[in-house]
Amino acid sequence: MARIVKKFGGTSVGDVERIRNVAGKIKRAVDEGHEVAVVVSAMAGTTNQLVAFCREASMMHDAREYDTVVAAGEQITIGLLSICLQEIGISARSFLGWQVPIRTNNQHGAARIIEIDPANIEACFKDGRVAIVAGFQGIGPDNRITTLGRGGSDTSAVALAAALKADRCDIYTDVEGVYTTDPRIVPKARKLDKITYEEMLEMASLGAKVLHTRSVALAMRYGVRTQVLSSFVDKPGTLVVNEDETVEQQVVSGIAYTRGEAKVTLVKVPDLPGQVANIFRPLARENINVDMIVQTASEHGGHTDVTFTVPEDDLKRCVKALEDTKGELKFDHLHFDDNVAKVSVVGVGMRSHTGVAQKMFDTLAEKGINIQVISTSEIKISVLIDSEYTELAVRALHTAYGLDSE
Ligand code: ADP
Ligand code: ASP
Ligand code: MG
Repeated sequence: MARIVKKFGGTSVGDVERIRNVAGKIKRAVDEGHEVAVVVSAMAGTTNQLVAFCREASMMHDAREYDTVVAAGEQITIGLLSICLQEIGISARSFLGWQVPIRTNNQHGAARIIEIDPANIEACFKDGRVAIVAGFQGIGPDNRITTLGRGGSDTSAVALAAALKADRCDIYTDVEGVYTTDPRIVPKARKLDKITYEEMLEMASLGAKVLHTRSVALAMRYGVRTQVLSSFVDKPGTLVVNEDETVEQQVVSGIAYTRGEAKVTLVKVPDLPGQVANIFRPLARENINVDMIVQTASEHGGHTDVTFTVPEDDLKRCVKALEDTKGELKFDHLHFDDNVAKVSVVGVGMRSHTGVAQKMFDTLAEKGINIQVISTSEIKISVLIDSEYTELAVRALHTAYGLDSE
């Protein structure tokens, strides 16, 4: 007998028929004698709709009320799944975040889980019941509903698995596992049997939305055995593992992309100590995350241009924060561009191999794709390009690094 947390994403619970299919999977695990807790997302499309309602009501909406609205989708699916399980003779009950409770900080819209008390779920197990928990939501220190950020149900599931000391966490989704890149844009993408926590963390944070970034960080920290697999096909998926559990390592394991960032350039910034600090201070004050940064070499006039990227959703606030402090900053003018994409190649093998960057630059050059900004870490290289070329770049790099399936 094992203790298992199973998470089902939006497409997997997209309508009542699909919820019945999920109930069937859970029944199988219960019949095998396992203790099962389930985390579900809202039906596909529901959360987008709820976000749109908030924006329609006010572009400057109260983040606490936003959370109250967007957490609603998961309430529907936990109830429906419990009903479908009861229909097939499985005892089950639903839990909203606060009923578990899943305690978070009060950063509404991007809250972090602080603590999960496993007692209520364990009581369910004792009674031979399946616990169905709403993903994506928690309860803040002021007793208000919080949400964990888009895609956050994966994080709810892994955190619950850690709190319950579960033997594993199965993340069921609409693809068969983690692929070398998004299988929806590269038909030749290959499913990976295993991927290291570190690579998965990079892939997720660089745009591969198959797992929420925080979920991977938690899985790594608490050693949660996490598997990504399909809700629709009965096949083994991808196991997220420690580096020493992988056998042979490709230099590059995967390619990720995101169109979610925007580029900002400040032109003619005086080349003096403290100027760059002055630029980023107002952004830090506004909680705006800066990602890629490049500063051009100083020209004769003692000025440089500073370019960086921020999340697209924060672009307006970023430009406003910079314009508001223009007197203090002393740049000539700024321009921005949200038609950009960040394409990244990821692999732990990069630590011990050279020429990875060269191959990336050569491949993009052959396709006539201009690189606007570059950033690197030990196991990844990212480039910023015109978003129009995203798919072309991802496909070309996938082939160049020998990742295409036969
Ligand atoms: P869920 O609703 O089940 O949480 P998501 O839509 O959040 O599902 O994540 C699954 C999607 O992630 C897939 O449909 C796929 O398009 C996308 N994806 C992006 N990169 C990858 C990758 N490297 N491997 C698998 N899927 C990926
Ligand atoms: N329903 C939430 C979203 O669409 C959380 C999730 O699906 O993981 O972002
Ligand atoms: Mg998801």
